[in-house]
Amino acid sequence: MRQKRQTPDVTVVGAGVAGLSAALAAADAGASVLVLAKASHTSSNSYAAQGGVAAALGADDDPALHARDTLAAGRGLCRPSAVRLLTEEAPARIAELQDLGVAFDDGLGREGGHSRDRVVHAGGADTGRAIAGVLAARAREHSRIRLVEGERITTLATLRGSAVILATGGYAALWARTTNPRGAVGDGLLLAHAAGAALADLELVQFHPTALRDDNGHDGFLLSEALRGAGATLLDDGGERFVDELAPRDVVARAVAARAGARLDLRPVERDRYPTLMATLAEAGYDPADEPVPVSPAAHYAIGGIVTNLDARTSVSGLYAAGECACTGVHGANRLASNSLLECLVFGRRAGLAALGGPRFDAEAAPLDPACDPGAELWRDAGLIRGAQGLGRLLDSPHPLVRGIAACGLAREESRGVHFREDFPVESDALAGHLVVQPGREPELEPWS
Ligand SMILES: Cc1cc2nc3c(=O)[nH]c(=O)nc-3n(C[C@H](O)[C@H](O)[C@H](O)COP(=O)(O)OP(=O)(O)OC[C@H]3O[C@@H](n4cnc5c(N)ncnc54)[C@H](O)[C@@H]3O)c2cc1C
Repeated sequence: MRQKRQTPDVTVVGAGVAGLSAALAAADAGASVLVLAKASHTSSNSYAAQGGVAAALGADDDPALHARDTLAAGRGLCRPSAVRLLTEEAPARIAELQDLGVAFDDGLGREGGHSRDRVVHAGGADTGRAIAGVLAARAREHSRIRLVEGERITTLATLRGSAVILATGGYAALWARTTNPRGAVGDGLLLAHAAGAALADLELVQFHPTALRDDNGHDGFLLSEALRGAGATLLDDGGERFVDELAPRDVVARAVAARAGARLDLRPVERDRYPTLMATLAEAGYDPADEPVPVSPAAHYAIGGIVTNLDARTSVSGLYAAGECACTGVHGANRLASNSLLECLVFGRRAGLAALGGPRFDAEAAPLDPACDPGAELWRDAGLIRGAQGLGRLLDSPHPLVRGIAACGLAREESRGVHFREDFPVESDALAGHLVVQPGREPELEPWS
């Protein structure tokens, strides 16, 4: 007779950097851990990450400077306590990765919004693969972790009895044009909301300025900001530069979107340092040594997510969230480049440790609604530049997360960071807070400290 497996102390949903960090932290501290992922760990945003992880490691740098840059990018919406934790813990998390076997390249990179060189990277622009690969290998060989790939969770009801950590990634793949793998559609947000958890800042989605424009299967392929940090320039169809390439992402993205023929010139870059990127461009039929490659913006990073405190606790007992599916408030209204893998390392570990001694999940939880594909509508009505008319149309979407994005987008009657309203083009002091959505309620503005 087959023996029923014992309920694990901790169940982690998601095998990206946040989920694997949480699993390793909990298991190292003595917990039995089950990690469930709907696809192979190689099909995550984490594995696709290119540029690197930010940490104040340079002789001229300090976590306080990293915090200052993060707060400036966040346009008055960052939760200062979360930013302090993120930046102070960063050097220790990088050292741990090295101890686990991640081989970082020599030297620190510079990306937009950083006042110092502080981005650690691996294999040029292969950082995600290097980190996620090592964490998955360590999880697989850990005696207290069971990693199951290919299992999609459609209700949290089946996970009762464990402490549950959601690390399901973001929702930028809901947009038609995206840099994300197709699975990044916000399952975790809907699962948590169905169990009673609050969501926040759903309207805040970052569009990356330089995704490949391509009709032959590579559309949306990310051309990392690290390339611009290393000298790549943006040219219009007349061959002229038109924007400071290292200005905040939202500024660069809108400038690129305004020019149908924008191209990224990689000729000034030491291209041998980015072997995987160059190989993909060659596969797509481009020779960046010869001519600039066509680019345009694509939905890239979900700032909004499941509301958590600094220990990754949601508003539901026994339910935790970390990584891109969570909203700690750390990114404010605009994520600083390379702070998101760092968020996964810092808050993933904190989730694992908090879940260890906390209550088990025991709430009622409805199943996910069958999915529909809202890509084209979202691109049209909640893209880089939004307005009341388009957002209003999305309130009738059959997709519950799209309705939430629209409600938050309508409530934020201002332009701040990644959220640009053509009908409210400036920041409003009255809206300097987080839009929190409790189940069945309209978004409400809350200040977070
Ligand atoms: C192309 C690209 C480049 C990037 N480059 C950088 C960079 O250089 N630096 C940086 O800091 N950030 C970068 N980012 C952002 C960063 O990679 C992500 O924010 C981060 O990796 C998210 O990690 P995560 O662990 O939260 O989620 P993910 O890595 O997306 O993992 C989500 C996991 O959840 C699983 N899952 C989802 N739903 C379910 C379900 N219903 N049931 C079971 N499992 C489920 C998935 O299978 C997956 O295992 C980049 C993103 C992209 C797309």
